[in-house]
Amino acid sequence: MAPIPKLLKYLGRSPWIYHINTGSCNSCDIEIVAVLTPRYDAERFGVVLVESPRHADILLVTGPVCHQNLDRVKRVYEQTPDPKMVIAVGACSSTNGVFDGSYCIDGPLDDVIPVDVYVIGCPPRPENILFGVVKAIQKLNALAEGEI
Ligand code: SF4
Repeated sequence: MAPIPKLLKYLGRSPWIYHINTGSCNSCDIEIVAVLTPRYDAERFGVVLVESPRHADILLVTGPVCHQNLDRVKRVYEQTPDPKMVIAVGACSSTNGVFDGSYCIDGPLDDVIPVDVYVIGCPPRPENILFGVVKAIQKLNALAEGEI
């Protein structure tokens, strides 16, 4: 991963983030908390956690999509205004991980909604989550400039 200061040039806007857990074991969620609290302090780059998907630019999604959450995930995606980015955080969100094959899983996430960035790891390191957010911002900027 590139050093964080080198990534700052991509942070031309303040990304607002909405976090949704679709059935994770909570370890990915704890790493997201680490990203947002003083040790990694993503807020210094303008990253803000919002309480409604209607205010968000980026969805941070953890866990496989369990059947109980299937409609909720789709609804949150629809409620998030365009242009938006979806980040699949962790192995479960990307591939179902250790939950693959379970009777109650409808994931992985990209079977349910479009995914723009995948962050690997079980759980991913906070640096990787932050890097995923930067990649999402790059894609948002490219969208705004008509490059994609
Ligand atoms: S990827 Fe690993 S840490 Fe994250 S929800 Fe799945 S099992 Fe838990």
